[in-house]
Amino acid sequence: NIMVVGSYVVDLMSRTPHMPKPGETVLGGPFQMGPGGKGSNQAVAAARQGANVTMVTKVGHDLFGDHAMENFTEESIDTTYVTRHTEEATGTAIITVDDQGENTIVVALGACGKITSTDVQGAEQRLEASDMVLVQLETSMDAIRTTIQLARKHNKPVILNPAPFQQIDDDLLQDVAYITPNETEASLLTGIEVVDESSARKAAKQLIERGVHAVVITLGKQGCFVYDGSDDGTLVKGFPVQAVDTTGAGDAFNGGLATFIAEGMKLAKAVIRANAVAAISVTKTGTAIAMPTMADVEEFLRN
Ligand code: ADP
Repeated sequence: NIMVVGSYVVDLMSRTPHMPKPGETVLGGPFQMGPGGKGSNQAVAAARQGANVTMVTKVGHDLFGDHAMENFTEESIDTTYVTRHTEEATGTAIITVDDQGENTIVVALGACGKITSTDVQGAEQRLEASDMVLVQLETSMDAIRTTIQLARKHNKPVILNPAPFQQIDDDLLQDVAYITPNETEASLLTGIEVVDESSARKAAKQLIERGVHAVVITLGKQGCFVYDGSDDGTLVKGFPVQAVDTTGAGDAFNGGLATFIAEGMKLAKAVIRANAVAAISVTKTGTAIAMPTMADVEEFLRN
């Protein structure tokens, strides 16, 4: 059982022949709409790997909010703690992708940026029944702080995916079992420019000194660097695949990692499998819709 506290936004994506300049209107298309947001994407990744997932988030009283509820239900994600904000709209991400594959994204978190401490406290009983709590930085710091504090109170492991990057107080790091930054986030967190194994090792050591229990730095196609404070840490190689769209790779990785650790798998083994979940996800376009199932991962690892 996994509890995810985080964002839901609807991705509104349009292709464009070129990026419009300020004041310019471009005829583009095709247009595509789909569920997104780091919290929701990670929840979908975990649910498709077989976890029982409870999502704690907020959506608006609008069409996109209805759409979100339907989507969670389709993915077998428990919506007991998905609340509807009476004033804020459901979060949106307005994405444009040009012919060169460059993108611009405007995220309006709306309702999911307004998750309160009280909302999280409302889910305390469910948190107590969870094996793992997964949280990102794509909502209010109040909600993030309360989540980590409640997990500590009930002695539940927390995976903190520090994305998108925001400064976090070191006192919170003490109660984080696993932190999972990508290269950019690891650099911003530590002030060490993380690009490869040796710089990742330095950053990981610093994070352990600051109180985190274990560090997993994702390194794109290189895989991830894993360090729990013993030995010297290990680079766990990624799987070579033909990447088509790497957006959501980190979400796939985190949803997978949470599931496998919650199932009792050792970290060293869980990260290999999480690399596989993420590798499969980059071979397909989209974020949540690109998340593989448990069967997809089994087949991938057999070949
Ligand atoms: P983010 O999406 O947050 O920037 P990364 O780019 O570090 O995160 O990717 C997360 C994980 O996804 C990596 O640790 C790796 O397992 C997998 N991954 C990302 N890009 C590729 C790729 N091109 N080929 C294979 N695996 C990849």
